[in-house]
Amino acid sequence: MNYDVVIVGGGASGLACAARLVKGGKQLKICVIEAGDRIGKKLAATGNGQGNVSNLDMTAEHYHGGNSALVERLTCGDPYAGTKLFSCLFCADESGRIYPAGKQASALADDFLRQLSSEITLLTGVKAEKIISMGYGFEVHTNGARVEKSRFLVLCTGGKAQKQFKTDGSSYALAAYFGHSLTPLYPSLVQLKTQTEHIRTLKGIRADCVLTAMQHGKVLARKRGDVIFTDYGVSGNAVFAVSPYITDKHDVILSIEFLPDFSNEEIEKSIILHKKDGCEKSELLSGTLHNQIGRAVIKRSNSDNEKIICDTLKNFTLPVTGTLGFDYAQVTKGGIKMDEVTNELESRLIKNLFFAGEVLDVDGDCGGYNLHWAFTSGMAVADSILNRKW
Ligand SMILES: Cc1cc2nc3c(=O)[nH]c(=O)nc-3n(C[C@H](O)[C@H](O)[C@H](O)COP(=O)(O)OP(=O)(O)OC[C@H]3O[C@@H](n4cnc5c(N)ncnc54)[C@H](O)[C@@H]3O)c2cc1C
Repeated sequence: MNYDVVIVGGGASGLACAARLVKGGKQLKICVIEAGDRIGKKLAATGNGQGNVSNLDMTAEHYHGGNSALVERLTCGDPYAGTKLFSCLFCADESGRIYPAGKQASALADDFLRQLSSEITLLTGVKAEKIISMGYGFEVHTNGARVEKSRFLVLCTGGKAQKQFKTDGSSYALAAYFGHSLTPLYPSLVQLKTQTEHIRTLKGIRADCVLTAMQHGKVLARKRGDVIFTDYGVSGNAVFAVSPYITDKHDVILSIEFLPDFSNEEIEKSIILHKKDGCEKSELLSGTLHNQIGRAVIKRSNSDNEKIICDTLKNFTLPVTGTLGFDYAQVTKGGIKMDEVTNELESRLIKNLFFAGEVLDVDGDCGGYNLHWAFTSGMAVADSILNRKW
């Protein structure tokens, strides 16, 4: 078949691009090729099924990767920009995270399907395996031995996080075929492996902490939230929040500050009261911290001195030894080099070839930044294509 635009990848960015192209009113012949059995499968799983699509605190420092000026221009105008693709209502929670009001991410994938199914060709269960640039545009060869032809091609194939969503990294080869290169790839928004000597007894316990990631004494990130202790290291929203700043680095140490709302003075006073009550050494933090965490802190402090116990509790360090890897990560850090695309996200190497979403070397913090990038970059590509001479 011949199309005006073929979009490879029916995830958040590809669907945003398609929806915007349709709304452009140019009656373009558009095809989305999606390897999965339905479109927007990962989108439907985001935010623990609730779809955290953006964040009120939309500033450039929440993004990592190449061409920060362009990323800032595309993302930092209106935090609700991506929500305008949908007909439902959206609202922000107390921490600024924006969700569909019904808190159901699958409704967003359904909305895309409603908008697009009668307007464009949606090929599901079809993987683009090879793309050839021809004089008139592109030929997309798929696993079904189909060949789709198109004037414009948009690669929205995502990264290599969570291969059950058909994002196993194999599709970077489609861009490599055109001479595009990748920055090194790392898992991000991911659980961290750490030394486990001091946390062996804490498996499954969750604590509200301030988590600081440091390298050679320099603070890389500091976030407040839950840390969950596991047999491999740590998980929880504070861990996900610091991970974008460290998974590409070595020699990182996590410092956990327990009881962040209490001063050293208050904690030390409570330890002294416990002592006066005749508490055993191991129970000096009983009732103040989860008992098992309290015991682990006291054991590690190797002291019954309230100052030393308090210092250990406020700076409980764990060297990072790795991550749980791409199968558990929410996003990929790294991707197609941003200096190989124009400010319109068009390839500098091949005319009329565009990229959007996670396939590019842009990743965001935890909290809606990655979907916002997927939506805004997909829409930006659509606008560039709509602005061409038709
Ligand atoms: C469990 C989970 C929860 C998340 N929660 C959030 C959240 O709450 N907020 C947030 O901002 N971000 C979240 N993210 C990250 C966010 O989902 C992604 O960054 C975003 O979906 C990227 O959009 P994309 O379109 O670039 O890629 P994807 O959504 O990954 O879509 C890429 C699509 O391309 C298809 N594809 C790949 N190769 C081919 C090929 N050769 N041929 C045809 N099709 C192909 C894949 O099947 C896939 O459907 C989460 C991620 C995960 C895994």
